[in-house]
Order: sequence, then C-alpha cells, then structure tokens
Amino acid sequence: MPGYEIIGKEELREIKDIFDNGGVLFRHGFDHLRNGIYKVNQFEKKFSKKMNAPYALAVTSGTAALRVALAAIEIKPKDEIITQSFTFVATVEAIIESRGIPIITEIDDTLNMDPKDFEKKITKNTKAVIVVHMLGTPARLDEIKKIAKKHKIFLIEDTAWGCGGKYNGIPLGNFGDIGTFSFDFAKTMTTGEGGMVIFKNKKLFNKAAAWHDHGHENNPKLPRWEDSRSSSGFNYRMNELQGAVGIAQLKKLDKVVKGQRKSAKKILSILKKYPLTLRKSPKGSKETFDSLVFFVSNPKLAIRCRNQLLSRGIGTKILPEALTWHFAGSWSHMPQLLKKYGKNIRKKFPKSYSYLSKAVSIPISMNYKNELAKKINTALEKTFKKKI
Ligand SMILES: *Cc1c(COP(=O)(O)O)cnc(C)c1O
Repeated sequence: MPGYEIIGKEELREIKDIFDNGGVLFRHGFDHLRNGIYKVNQFEKKFSKKMNAPYALAVTSGTAALRVALAAIEIKPKDEIITQSFTFVATVEAIIESRGIPIITEIDDTLNMDPKDFEKKITKNTKAVIVVHMLGTPARLDEIKKIAKKHKIFLIEDTAWGCGGKYNGIPLGNFGDIGTFSFDFAKTMTTGEGGMVIFKNKKLFNKAAAWHDHGHENNPKLPRWEDSRSSSGFNYRMNELQGAVGIAQLKKLDKVVKGQRKSAKKILSILKKYPLTLRKSPKGSKETFDSLVFFVSNPKLAIRCRNQLLSRGIGTKILPEALTWHFAGSWSHMPQLLKKYGKNIRKKFPKSYSYLSKAVSIPISMNYKNELAKKINTALEKTFKKKI
C-alpha cells in the first residue's frame, strides 16, 4: 500500500505551480497562458526515465491504459487476448471493450500466470498476452516472454500493482512490448485516478498517443485543429492536475516501495512461526510488497484466519475474498466470458480456485507499528490453535 500514506505538501506545491502560471489544466496548447508549464508532459518524461523505457503516455486510469495498449496493437474481430484468472476485472473489461476475445489461463504458486497453461491456450488467433503482477509479485516473466516470442504474440504487462518492482534488474512494465500502470488511490503511487502506458516501439507509442486523443497526431508546433489524423480514437487524456500530483508521487516511489519491503520483512518474521506456505516469487524478483500472501492447508482455515485478522481491525485485502472481483471464475456477469466458458465458469479454473481459496493476504503499510505485529501474531495463534 501506497502513495496515499505520504501525500501532501509536495503534491500541493506542484499543483500551485499550475495556478501560479495561468491555471491551464489541459495537457496541450494554450501556450501563451501557461508560462512553459506542461505537467503531464513532464510526468511522462520522468516516468519513462524511471522505468528506463523510451516512450511513456499518461492516461486517465489503469483501465484506460490497458484499453489504449490494446488499441495500439490494433485488435481485429476474432483476435484472442490471453490473460490470467487472478486479476482485477479491469484487465478483462479492457479486452472486451477492445472487441477482443478474452482467454483465461490458470495461475500457479506465484498467483500469476501459469506459463504452461499459457502456451496451451495459444491458437492461430492469439494476438497478445496480458500478464499481471498481482499484488506486487512478478509473474514468471522469463518463461512467458520466451513463449510469447516463439509464437509472435505481443507481451503486455498489467503493472497496476507492480510499479516500482523489478525482475532481473529490469523495472516491471518494461519487460514486454507494452507496460500499463494504474495510479488509482489504492496503488503504489497515486494521482487520484490515472494511469500510464510505456512502450519500446515508437510506432506503437504513436498509435496509442493518437488513439487516446481522438486520433490527433499531436504536433506541438501546430494549433490543434491542424493536427494530422489517420484513425479515429477516443479520449483518455490525463489532465494537468493529475500530472502535477504524479510528478510529486513519482519522487516518492522508491521510498514507498522501500517502506513496504521493510514492513513486509517484519511481518515475515512472525509468519515463520506458523504452519503456512508463502506465495512463491520467481527468482530474480524484486517485489513491491503491496501485500504479503500465504497459503494455509485448506479453505476453511483461510476463512478462519481472515476472521481472526478482521476482528483485530486488520483487512485481508482481496484474499481469500478474491473470489468476487479478482477471480475470472466469478465473472458470470460478463456474457463475453460465458460465451467461451459457459454458465459453469466457476469450475473452469480448478487449479486457480484451489490456490486462491487457501490464500490469505495481509495488506502492507509503510508505517508499520509494533502493535500491529502483536495483533497479527495473536490472530495467527488463534487460527492455528485448533485443527480443522
Ligand atoms: C487497479 C487495477 C487496474 C485498473 O486500474 P484503475 O486505475 O483503477 O482503472 C487494472 N488491473 C489491475 C490488476 C488492477 O489492480
């Protein structure tokens, strides 16, 4: 958890800068009014540098980031986009909104995409894979990237939870062709609502930049009505207020991740005493530790653990209650998924269901207090006292 714990003066100063210089809230134009202040543009530049990616495009949300990423690769009817069963609904919503066909893989003990199941689900219609670094733990990127390359499939990383994490020294989001980020209020860094898309390829970036701005092939030297255009698009432009907050939050990203890691370490030392298994993280991972996830031996025990934690005021973010908003097997409200998986969708990902129903997640805060450690310890003590 997250940037909202240290939001304040610095963000306000960036916003004040806008209002001290004409108060232009639109990312483009109005050059004579703004005294050279372009917050969104500056945020993009700083973010791309931080992620070591050549191009970055700011957008209105993490969901928009996914939609824009899919627009960049030009989805045609019948194109299939593969993603994993454990993710937030937004990943699949973006596929549906892009008129792609969502294909869902099982997860493994990383709680991210199972590379073997990914390869099994590739067909001649597969256009892209969206891998998700759920709750800040990297997916098995090496294996997934190899498979994607072999089959000439675009690799997109939904890095909504992975911002500030690394894998083999490479920032998460910059491993595949496109990386998407969310800056909603619960994420590692926040702009209230907002997102970012990073690219290696200039053509993909240009396509995305135009598409997120009604097709404007923006030329800052021309008035907007003279911009060229080659396709229609939509509006997912970030505004200057969000850009300003983003600049200040980005400066704090390392501190947030470091703080989370430190807290996680302390909680890990408590977990060690109990008969539970930690979620696996692939070798070479630098996790963001948005949450700490462990498995207990059966679903009943997971619920008991959750209740013990909750009764002490400790939320269990997403797990074991993921089976609503974060597990594809629960999304019987999406006809596009039912078309492929049928009414009995809940039964279609047994391996994922088995992992998720035995998992408990403890949200990690930067500001860890010893009192919290005591509460977690007591909750676990009570959980494991009686056998089920
Ligand atoms: C938060 C989240 C999103 C969506 O981001 P928003 O900014 O809330 O639209 C997408 N994917 C995952 C995995 C997320 O957790």
